Amino acid sequence: MGEIFYRPRRLRRTRLIRDMVAETRIAIDGLIQPYFVCDGAGVRQEIESMPGIYRESSDVLMKTIADDYALGIRRIMLFGVPEAKDAVASSALGPDSVATKAVAMLKDKYGDDLFVSADVCLCAYTDSGHCGLLSGDAVDNDRTLPVLAEMSLSLAKAGCDCLGPSDMMDGRVGWIRETLEQGGFPQTLILAYTAKYASTYYGPFRDACHSAPGKGDRKGYQMDWRNRYEASRELELDIEEGADIVMVKPALAYLDIISDLRQATDLPVAAYNVSGEYAMVKLMARQKLVDEKTMVLENLTAITRAGADIILTYHLRDMLKGDWLG
Ligand SMILES: [Zn+2]
Repeated sequence: MGEIFYRPRRLRRTRLIRDMVAETRIAIDGLIQPYFVCDGAGVRQEIESMPGIYRESSDVLMKTIADDYALGIRRIMLFGVPEAKDAVASSALGPDSVATKAVAMLKDKYGDDLFVSADVCLCAYTDSGHCGLLSGDAVDNDRTLPVLAEMSLSLAKAGCDCLGPSDMMDGRVGWIRETLEQGGFPQTLILAYTAKYASTYYGPFRDACHSAPGKGDRKGYQMDWRNRYEASRELELDIEEGADIVMVKPALAYLDIISDLRQATDLPVAAYNVSGEYAMVKLMARQKLVDEKTMVLENLTAITRAGADIILTYHLRDMLKGDWLG
């Protein structure tokens, strides 16, 4: 008769025991809610592929964020969705750019009580829908860098706490960092999209931002999802160039990459729980195939367990409304 000396099930017997010995806890302070801000006034359009997420003009956005602030949201990421698009992404620049104006309004109202980060990329502002400027049919890396840096400086001047360059041009973190230093904004954070993969999971986001490329795809600048070690090279470059936080995007199909980055650096590691991951949960919950709350908690716990300190997630508002972490 084999004697059992250790029984792992003892630590799983009751909820209080399980909660006491849980190895991973989701920290509310590490969660960031993304928003989409568009031109106009009184605009609030639900994004069809992302139930519960809206494109809003800045006046409406201010009300939404006031409600979310009351719920407990303190950290946000803004994406601009301008009407005007051209070859050189003019609408991304200057104090009147749609996201920059919203940043200024928010910082004016909340100051340091709301952490405002903003996306830095050109795809919502170019008529090609590509993340950089084109030379012929190709995305021209070096011609794009000064534009990204100028966009960053406009956002920093508006009071933006943190810039999130998501374009995947080579050298952009360094360009932005140097421009911020020279422009008098040495305190502005850079949340670098270190390992951003050319993913199918972005589908609903492109719908939200009207940013699908008209021609071609993004495989010439975003990472190939067959590659793991390449993320280490991107990490080295981003650290060298002055990134404060490094990010993996998407999250759920890239837990190995999150874990690699967590072990390779002492900088904070972020992960983007992207639109397609959000839409899968929402659509399955609508079909009553899964319980939304437990699936969201399982997903965010997995991302945290893999090593993410910070998670950008569209689920944050629902989590607070339902007191899911309570
Ligand atoms: Zn882009």
